[in-house]
Amino acid sequence: MAIVDLQKQLFDNKLETQMTDAAKRLFDKTLAECEEKELFYVLLDVTKDLSAMTEPCEGEKKIYYISAEFLIGKLLSNNLLNLGIYKHVEEILVKNGKSLAAVEECEPEPSLGNGGLGRLAACFLDSIATLGLPGAGIGLNYHFGLFKQEFKDRKQCAVKNDWIEEKSWLNATDVSFEVKYKDFTVKSKLYDIDVIGYNNGIDKLHLFDLESLDESLVKEGINFDKEDIEKNLTLFLYPDDSDEAGNLLRIYQQYFMVSNAAQLILQEMREKKYDLRKLYDHAVIQINDTHPTMIIPELIRILTEDKAIGMDEAIEIVSKTCAYTNHTILAEALEKWPLEYLEKVVPALVPIIKELDKRVASKYKDPKVQIIDKDNRVHMAHIDIHYGFSINGVAAIHTDILKDTELNHFYKIYPEKFNNKTNGITFRRWLMSCNPALCEYLTETIGDDFKRDADALEKLLAYKDDAQVLTKLEAIKMDNKRALISYIKEKEGVELDENSIFDIQIKRLHEYKRQQMNVLYIIHKYLEIKGGKKPVRPLTFLFGAKAAPAYVIAQDIIHLILVLQELVNKDPEVAPFMKVVMVENYNVSYAERLIPACDISEQISLASKEASGTGNMKFMLNGAVTLGTADGANVEIGELVGPDNIYTFGKSSEEVIEHYAKADYVSKEYYENSEVIKEAVDFIVSEEVMKLGHKEQLERLYNELLNKDWFMTLLDLEEYIEVKDRMFADFEDREKWRRMMLVNIAKAGFFSSDRTIAEYNRDIWKL
Ligand SMILES: *Cc1c(COP(=O)(O)O)cnc(C)c1O
Repeated sequence: MAIVDLQKQLFDNKLETQMTDAAKRLFDKTLAECEEKELFYVLLDVTKDLSAMTEPCEGEKKIYYISAEFLIGKLLSNNLLNLGIYKHVEEILVKNGKSLAAVEECEPEPSLGNGGLGRLAACFLDSIATLGLPGAGIGLNYHFGLFKQEFKDRKQCAVKNDWIEEKSWLNATDVSFEVKYKDFTVKSKLYDIDVIGYNNGIDKLHLFDLESLDESLVKEGINFDKEDIEKNLTLFLYPDDSDEAGNLLRIYQQYFMVSNAAQLILQEMREKKYDLRKLYDHAVIQINDTHPTMIIPELIRILTEDKAIGMDEAIEIVSKTCAYTNHTILAEALEKWPLEYLEKVVPALVPIIKELDKRVASKYKDPKVQIIDKDNRVHMAHIDIHYGFSINGVAAIHTDILKDTELNHFYKIYPEKFNNKTNGITFRRWLMSCNPALCEYLTETIGDDFKRDADALEKLLAYKDDAQVLTKLEAIKMDNKRALISYIKEKEGVELDENSIFDIQIKRLHEYKRQQMNVLYIIHKYLEIKGGKKPVRPLTFLFGAKAAPAYVIAQDIIHLILVLQELVNKDPEVAPFMKVVMVENYNVSYAERLIPACDISEQISLASKEASGTGNMKFMLNGAVTLGTADGANVEIGELVGPDNIYTFGKSSEEVIEHYAKADYVSKEYYENSEVIKEAVDFIVSEEVMKLGHKEQLERLYNELLNKDWFMTLLDLEEYIEVKDRMFADFEDREKWRRMMLVNIAKAGFFSSDRTIAEYNRDIWKL
């Protein structure tokens, strides 16, 4: 039935009856007798029933969003919200002496993604269903997902995230396909998760699993036999790829994903009696980064298998069906698989890839656009660009860099294929669900149009000189800080000051994101306080980040942050004026608590390196002010709010790209020419720090900054210190700050993923 009819039905006590019945059936208890965890299962059961009763999004053409990652986060509260029954459920629980927040705590969080790319895919599914578009996500059902992070001895330890319980959001289906590798064949099993549109229909997230998976392969931490593919394929998300076995496993995973995807899509086409020659009239495949690229040769392989469709035609059909999104210009992230690896794993695709390569080579001589290079490596992105109909970047500046520099040789061949789709976030999760107080106050002030049409947030601008509204925004921020303080006290054992400024950097740990620059600032502040220069108001520096287990320098940066946390927070001279906390196991749920409490949003990547960022958008929407470089979507944030409502610093992307081109950046020169920089960097290997930390790690990091610093930390450090100090000073001008908060919220509408998806549909998918 349509969701509106469902909602009407539920409001005549039916929902309470349904919950009571489920509690009786599952646990033989009343709602009041149930434990929190049991109530979670009750609500899981009821929600799944309700979504099964809701109409799917249907139409003549469907979008298949294929992605190795879907960082969906917990689903209960968002599903209740999107079904329109959140408040109602909350009331029923209160009536029975329970709290929905406590129930939500019991839900395990799936970690089917690393960071931004996977979270984007999750936001996109929410928006696709909310806009009523027929669509599906296709990915893998990693049993232990990304690792769970624990801190031991001031270091990151990785343990498995055992998120799949007996009852979960996964619905087992009887869909199963065979996937043939060189030496063996495996069978898949499909699990579906319902994607519930906000007051709209249902789409599906299809997660393929390995029928013969053996969880007992995981012995200690996240270690397992990487070569036993028939048992390990869907154990973990991208395991360590620092060795050959890890790389091969990644190729096995990717082929498993795309072979299943291709079979599923073609099966749906056949069921609907569509002509496969017109595949592109009924299906569009969005390839999220290069991980699903093999879907192109795989579809060609299947279409040409029965000889009814020739190679030329198959290539044309597939090219008109597939579109590619580029997420990065970091060289290490653009996948290049040795042909020899592909021969070991999927020899059936090799002749097709060679054919695709031959056709390119016969037309274009430029070595930069070939699919197979002179070292016999297959450039996956090049397959997407030649044999897809659309290539998009994820923020205006990123797409410009692709066109002008990174992919310029392709842009000259196919200018019409290139387009920009600035990323977005779903406001259901990142405003309505994570910041209910702000959401309610906005509704009270400007009405609730913004829940459907995010641009309506601009109505808030009319109140930018209204003292009452400004004061209320500040009060909501304070309440969110208090809630975070008590959570952090419980989880991390650190006490924070509600009157301090909350400066937050949460994102994957990577040198290009420059957590190390933030750390150097903290050291600088610490030394100032030790020298008697106290800040007017206490400062709270919060970090959250996981680092790839094989990424050595990233581990060292985490170690330094944890050492500083110890040093600063336990120093009675310093602790009253500043605190440092790195929260353990940063994930979506933690983000939902941190973001509403933030004053300063740290977006300090080296210009040109962060394709878009989406954390920056979440913070802005929740009334934080950005401190950032002119990188990714920070640029568009700056254009929207104007220079008075953002703090920018650092060298431009053009200057940075020129430094790389000329190879003329020498970090040591910056170190030697600045007393402030020298002091901060030297402190890493000072006696105080060495006493708490590990010599080898600290010295390695120190040497890295001094002698290499590939992501140019020291290039922008002085300006960063200057602008951040100015920002802290401006915080004391409360009226000015409150107005900045308001303007940031009011201008955030552009970053709704509903806008992004509407653009994908208008320009690429055409559903
Ligand atoms: C939004 C989000 C990210 C992406 O953050 P960036 O700052 O854009 O890198 C990563 N992880 C989680 C859990 C997120 O919610």
